[in-house]
Amino acid sequence: MNATSYPSLLRPLDLGFCTLPNRVLMGSMHTGLEDRARDYERLAAFFAERARGGVGLMVTGGIAPSIEGWLKPFGGRLSMPWHVARHRRLTRAVHAEGGRICMQILHAGRYGYHPLSVAPSRLKSPITPFTPRALSARGIERTIRDFVHCAVRSREAGYDGVEVMGSEGYLINQFLTERTNRRSDAWGGDAERRMRFAVEIVRRIREAVGSDFILIYRLSMLDLVEKGQTWDDIVRLARAVETAGATLINTGIGWHEARVPTIVTSVPRAAFEWVTARMKREVAIPLITTNRINLPDVAERILAAGDADMVSMARPLLADPDWVAKARHGKAEAINTCIACNQACLDHVFENRTASCLVNPRACHETSLRIEITESPRSFAVVGAGPAGLACAVTLAERGHAVTLFDRAAQIGGQFNLARRIPGKEEFNETLRYFRYRLGDTGVDVRLGCEPDMDTLRGYEAVIVATGVKPRALALPGADHPRVLGYFDVLGHDAPVGRRVAIIGAGGIGFDVAEFLVQPGPSPSTDVKRWNEEWGVDEAYCAAGGLKPRRPEPPAREIWLLQRSEGRPGRRLNKTTGWVHRATLKEKGVHMLGGVTYLSIDDAGLHVRIDGAERVLDVDHVVVCAGQEPNRSLADALQAEGITTHVIGGADVAAELDAKRAIDQGTRLAATL
Ligand code: FAD
Ligand code: NAP
Ligand code: SF4
Repeated sequence: MNATSYPSLLRPLDLGFCTLPNRVLMGSMHTGLEDRARDYERLAAFFAERARGGVGLMVTGGIAPSIEGWLKPFGGRLSMPWHVARHRRLTRAVHAEGGRICMQILHAGRYGYHPLSVAPSRLKSPITPFTPRALSARGIERTIRDFVHCAVRSREAGYDGVEVMGSEGYLINQFLTERTNRRSDAWGGDAERRMRFAVEIVRRIREAVGSDFILIYRLSMLDLVEKGQTWDDIVRLARAVETAGATLINTGIGWHEARVPTIVTSVPRAAFEWVTARMKREVAIPLITTNRINLPDVAERILAAGDADMVSMARPLLADPDWVAKARHGKAEAINTCIACNQACLDHVFENRTASCLVNPRACHETSLRIEITESPRSFAVVGAGPAGLACAVTLAERGHAVTLFDRAAQIGGQFNLARRIPGKEEFNETLRYFRYRLGDTGVDVRLGCEPDMDTLRGYEAVIVATGVKPRALALPGADHPRVLGYFDVLGHDAPVGRRVAIIGAGGIGFDVAEFLVQPGPSPSTDVKRWNEEWGVDEAYCAAGGLKPRRPEPPAREIWLLQRSEGRPGRRLNKTTGWVHRATLKEKGVHMLGGVTYLSIDDAGLHVRIDGAERVLDVDHVVVCAGQEPNRSLADALQAEGITTHVIGGADVAAELDAKRAIDQGTRLAATL
């Protein structure tokens, strides 16, 4: 592919007073670095690297216009004159690279995780423990002034514009619906009065900042909550915001309290393009579409179809700061693609940790994790081409070392070859595509179907052992019964599986195996229409909020998903994605049981004790997903021979291993050798 493959994506966008070089917006993402003045140097490096990568326009993470508007105590804020200097560091760094950046003004309203939160009405949200104070009419006027001052200060700080956050269920959105706005004064009562707050903010910001300043309004086009806005309400608001002076309207999908996933990996690519396309018929200003757009051909198709004027990508630019440059140079296969796992970005932010990226551990660590050309090139053997070994091999080779990568399997990827078979994890294929490209590009000598012996490995400066894990065996009478399968048998070797199945172990892999076995035929994650039926998203927009009853496809099997610990399985799954897995399996009728004692397996099935009572689960197969142990035999043998050895990934520590740790460990080791 060459640059002309993406003519719509790479076409400049004339905003009247400035021209954006292409149609890619790096959408707002909270990284955690916004919250402390001392982290602004790191944040500046983060944005500068992405500006260098050619993105048309960037938006910062949400910055509060006041203390009341904080997302969490002491979160990022621009309301005082002394806040300006730290923001200026960001804008200078971006402009030095020829980029452009807007600041997002985010007032959390009742989503504020602190006792000072405010809202149109005194109604607690289902996702925060704090009940907000209802704003008085004077309080509303003061809040509008806060937005305006914040925008004016952002201009002073050198930003090219602001994005007013009017979606995702934050304060402005809370004014817009009767779900959260029960006022009967001039700011509530009917749709016209409920939208007044949003329109006044846009109008007064425009008045204050002048005409040559970008003003993006993030419009909730699909609330996905009961008593959300109707389509007519949203169109009326979009037109009013356009008249009030917005330069661009960005698409917002789903409130944070919505029970429909909007960005996780099982959401089809460009699943909400239809919403922006619908709005294109209603307003004249440029529209930005968003959510699950991660590859240039997807973005190009949307833009060429006229469904939007720009595409917003946030996580894909965490994953690869050079996304646009690679598309421009016809090297889409070189893009390190965001797999929408949320594991290092959103999950970190929810745990009050700095965001990063599973496939790119340098994200938000640009100043400390440097990949530099080595002054003393040496030759290394890496054994194991799973995520840990791949990351280590390509990073070593990029630094100028000679690298040989061995794997006894016929293909690279290790356990990612199992993960990519799970319905909704199709994106994992992209990581393998990326590593395949990088291995070739960096000149790694790849030897597949090869288990190297000691003599071979003695010839290298050092050996990096990335041999992964061994599934934990069951110690149970009947563990060797023909009905018992391991997850490798099911996912790696397509072992036939009966209609009634018990899964022992309800960790990440147990859940994935359940989704694999319960899904009849191809996954809805690659088909927007089927996915909308599954989750009850209404493209006809008949009801407020855009919801309709869910119509999941019937399950392929009856499944029992079991764990020994008390409580419902799935509690330890990742914060932002676990609920989606639990909801999917619940809808498919999977029996999820905790507090189970496994007794034995025989021709009658799986014998268990639950709540003190013994019972037999009459199942055709028992699939064991009981965790893993490190595969260290090679490492031990090398060390016994006195060969310099580094152990990474699952071979190092199997407990709580995931690809995030494997890739991070492989990259960091390679950066230091
Ligand atoms: P592995 O991926 O196990 O790779 C080890 C490699 O070493 C293999 O290719 C093996 O063939 C090779 N090898 C072993 N011994 C030798 C030898 N002697 N000589 C040559 N080669 C050898 N993680 C996440 O973060 N997110 C997820 O959503 C996720 N989903 C998953 C879903 C499933 C179904 C599974 C099974 C795993 C999932 N994981 C997920 C876990 C993730 O895949 C692992 O944590 C990761 O693959 C571990 O990487 P690794 O490189 O340490 O080991
Ligand atoms: P895991 O998450 O540690 O779960 C292992 C399960 O086996 C637990 O339910 C455990 O619960 C049970 N178990 C442990 N020892 C047992 C024994 N001796 N007998 C019977 N049951 C036993 O491990 P995993 O599911 O194998 O996943 C491996 C790693 O891959 C995880 O760390 C995970 O992070 C990663 N992964 C991530 C995702 C994701 O979506 N992010 C998906 C898949 C995998 P009890 O002890 O209560 O029975
Ligand atoms: Fe994408 Fe996962 Fe990286 Fe987040 S951690 S940017 S979701 S690949």
